[in-house]
Amino acid sequence: MERTQKQLSFRSELDFCIGFLKANHLPIPKIDRNDSIDALGKWYGRRKRICINMKKISKAIRTFRVAEMPDRRSAGGVLAHKIGHFIFDLRKKSLLQCANLALREPGSSSYEPTLLEAICEAFMLFVWNPELLRVGRPKRYDVMTVVLCLKPIETRSWREVIVDPPLHIQQFIQRWIEGNRFND
Ligand SMILES: [Zn+2]
Repeated sequence: MERTQKQLSFRSELDFCIGFLKANHLPIPKIDRNDSIDALGKWYGRRKRICINMKKISKAIRTFRVAEMPDRRSAGGVLAHKIGHFIFDLRKKSLLQCANLALREPGSSSYEPTLLEAICEAFMLFVWNPELLRVGRPKRYDVMTVVLCLKPIETRSWREVIVDPPLHIQQFIQRWIEGNRFND
């Protein structure tokens, strides 16, 4: 079967996320593609399994105005968010103790209905563009590095990660750094 571009990009994002877990000496959950689930991705805590719906993700990206990383509806965004759930389950106790610390700054994403989701969204950014999280949401960055003792594997500056962003994306990121949420 011929592999589509999306499958290939999922593969490289999968390898990057697994590289992150390995570099941080964390266990690796089962990660599968499953296009029949009713969401972009799902975390099954009891089975320690992540499913990614590439069919839904391909459609979501086409209708989304911010195509640059971090896009929470891209394969890499969904995958890192779900790995955030996995890490939250592993380190629930220390994460719940730091709740107030993390929330004493503007949110990093438009999707933060609970502390759990706020942590997962921050984790997504920490995986893909850690310097941007450090610059824009330093308390969340501290939760990742001090509370969870995680080390980023992306070492480039945030401007290097988001290569040549068009002007509206540059302005969008600037507004986010100044306190607005991402992906609104
Ligand atoms: Zn979530």
